[in-house]
Amino acid sequence: MSNKIPYKTYLSEQEMPKHWLNLKAFMKEQHAPFLNPSTGAPCTAEDLEAVFCKECVSQELNATDREIEIPKEIRDFYQMFRPSPLVRAYFLERVLDTPAEIYYKFEGNNTSGSHKLNSAAAQAYYAKKQGLTSITTETGAGQWGTALAMAAAFFGLHLDVYMVKVSAQQKPHRREVIRTYGANVIPSPSDTTAAGRKILAEYPETGGSLGCAISEAVEKALTTPDCKYVLGSVLDHVLLHQSVIGLECKSALDKYGVYPDTVIGCMGGGSNFGGLVAPYMAEKLQGKNEIEFIGVEPASCPSMTRGRYAYDYCDSAKITPLAKMYTLGCQFMPSPEHSGGLRYHGMSPVLSKLYHDGFMRVEAVVQSKVFEAAVCFAKCKGILPAPESSHAIRVTIDEALKCKQRGEKKKILFGLTGTGYFDLASYKQYNDGTMTDTIPTEKDLMQGFQSIPELP
Ligand SMILES: *Cc1c(COP(=O)(O)O)cnc(C)c1O
Repeated sequence: MSNKIPYKTYLSEQEMPKHWLNLKAFMKEQHAPFLNPSTGAPCTAEDLEAVFCKECVSQELNATDREIEIPKEIRDFYQMFRPSPLVRAYFLERVLDTPAEIYYKFEGNNTSGSHKLNSAAAQAYYAKKQGLTSITTETGAGQWGTALAMAAAFFGLHLDVYMVKVSAQQKPHRREVIRTYGANVIPSPSDTTAAGRKILAEYPETGGSLGCAISEAVEKALTTPDCKYVLGSVLDHVLLHQSVIGLECKSALDKYGVYPDTVIGCMGGGSNFGGLVAPYMAEKLQGKNEIEFIGVEPASCPSMTRGRYAYDYCDSAKITPLAKMYTLGCQFMPSPEHSGGLRYHGMSPVLSKLYHDGFMRVEAVVQSKVFEAAVCFAKCKGILPAPESSHAIRVTIDEALKCKQRGEKKKILFGLTGTGYFDLASYKQYNDGTMTDTIPTEKDLMQGFQSIPELP
């Protein structure tokens, strides 16, 4: 039956989800609460509302409602780029000569070039509804900054984007897209905040990091009236917004009676993975399936596979709340040679908990292998994948080849989170044969772990 599935499946606009799925409401045990950095006590809604929009805080703390309505204004925005296609990767199956069936959900069909617009739209809408005039954020590779700039422009908000300095230098075009949507781009670390000035004084040559850009954006929000900070991954409410990916995916696959055996996604802060797996993981948590969930992270920033499960700060200046998560330490500096996103020191607390409790596994892959998979995919599927997404492609190919060896007809679903048109400097390195694989040594890791606070 599943052989008849078309190359692409689009839901109709009427079939688009009207609710997000709140994975936490299916978990028997919740992750540990955020801690207030000044008191060490669990964060109250009030603590979080000093930094974030009210509605996002309420979603962040909601562990009871299985479904949360998507407001009509956000659904209207989604219609500009959703539903996204669910694709049967026939040509990739043919090239790999595998009996496996490969499916992917493509989230790159919008100007941000990624799934990030799903949460940007929601967060900008809630900020506007609350009566704010501006928002701040950080961006690493630039997709999140672009997505939020698009959403801020649509809903009429001013936006300051602290962009990791190396990224702003390596990707001047990405920066220009953000500016075109009317947002202000500040390479980080900058002299516009105390956190930035402190880091510049200590490391004048630094290319910056996500952790540092977060410190600057949070400080800016705390010191500006009617302004809040917005985060593009990691937090529970961001995973909630991204559940639209998994919900659409499941609706499309259900039409053809296809149920995946394996679901694979790349992991930066965990938002696309959490969103893609949401409906299937909810069923697994209820004992209804045996799906194998595989997260894929870069070997150069291996927060899940080599990190510690501990309370840590979400930023490098240690001003944000503490989260219990897998972490390399908030001052871990990933190698600047690693391209693209997925360079965050921590990981979503929800996914950290699920991983810790054995509901998923994680693989770390080196970037030359990732680009090899990206080029294979580009040649047989036409789409030039983002380096981040290509982590998932790598492991999908490996799993499909295992199926070939064992003669297994597994159904593999993966998340194709975005396109790589702004990552051509990395593709150039790969094509020139100058790409290097950096893996942190035990000493590098120990140095990062030193920045994990000791809690009583
Ligand atoms: C940001 C990004 C990711 C990683 O972020 P998550 O929050 O882990 O999903 C993956 N792919 C693309 C294309 C991205 O822009």
